[in-house]
Amino acid sequence: MENISQHLSNPKFRLIRHDVCDPIHLEADEIWNLACPASPKWYQDDPVKTTRTSVLGALNLLELAKTLGCPIFQASTSEIYGDAKFHPQREDYWGNVNPIGIRACYDEGKRCAETLFFDYHRQYGVKVKIARIFNTYGQRMQADDGRVISNFVVQALKGADITIYGDGQQTRSFCHVDDTIEACIRLMNTGDEVTGPVNIGSPLELSIRSIAEQIVEATRSRSAIVLRPLPVDDPRRRCPDISMAMSLLKWEPKIAFEKGLKATISYYRMKLDIPEEVSA
Ligand code: UDP
Repeated sequence: MENISQHLSNPKFRLIRHDVCDPIHLEADEIWNLACPASPKWYQDDPVKTTRTSVLGALNLLELAKTLGCPIFQASTSEIYGDAKFHPQREDYWGNVNPIGIRACYDEGKRCAETLFFDYHRQYGVKVKIARIFNTYGQRMQADDGRVISNFVVQALKGADITIYGDGQQTRSFCHVDDTIEACIRLMNTGDEVTGPVNIGSPLELSIRSIAEQIVEATRSRSAIVLRPLPVDDPRRRCPDISMAMSLLKWEPKIAFEKGLKATISYYRMKLDIPEEVSA
């Protein structure tokens, strides 16, 4: 609610509280399905609900798109690729997902959603737009989101231990949310023949340890970096091949990681009420 508070007084904005697991009937020119927690901490908190949200949510919104004849965007994920065996990941890679592991509720839920999107497209001619969004970060994430950038920044600002899971040699590629949104809008605005899936993310692959070190430096924190057990099925390497987004959407990330990190740190300083001179 805090993140949308600035829109509530806009007469063109209407908030409807509704669970996507239940069918819905509305007027719409476009449908954007962004429903589902994306942080492992939160999607594993109620895994059955995560699968329900991904699968029933997709089904209900696809039914609506079919009725209205309008395009529908699906926020899919790099988790489609699981613990990828090919690097960087291209859209034609089918992935390596443990179907009975603790990440499966999200990974398989989102994979099934992609299946539904393509079957609604083939069977009923629904105009679908699937974005496979890689790790995204930036302002307005919750302090207790549980994902790595928010955890490390909050820990650094509070002077708490910075918790690397495993040895920190695993990699991710982080795209600032403003770049991610720009790519998603571009995808929605493509012609009906463009369905995706399209990888959206940063091609800059970084180790988790190097991210911890950059955050300590950028916050001038005295926090210690400590090692904690690696969660089960944690993907070892992740990096998108974004050639499709570059050619189809004329898009690539513009915000350098250092710049996006600085803005994110400033945001958390404000949110947590930690002035610059006392972060340590
Ligand atoms: N991670 C970490 N410390 C944390 C949170 C996450 O070392 O406090 C690691 C996690 O094990 C994974 C990577 O950072 O290897 C990215 O995790 P995140 O939960 O942000 O997203 P994921 O890509 O795993 O969905």
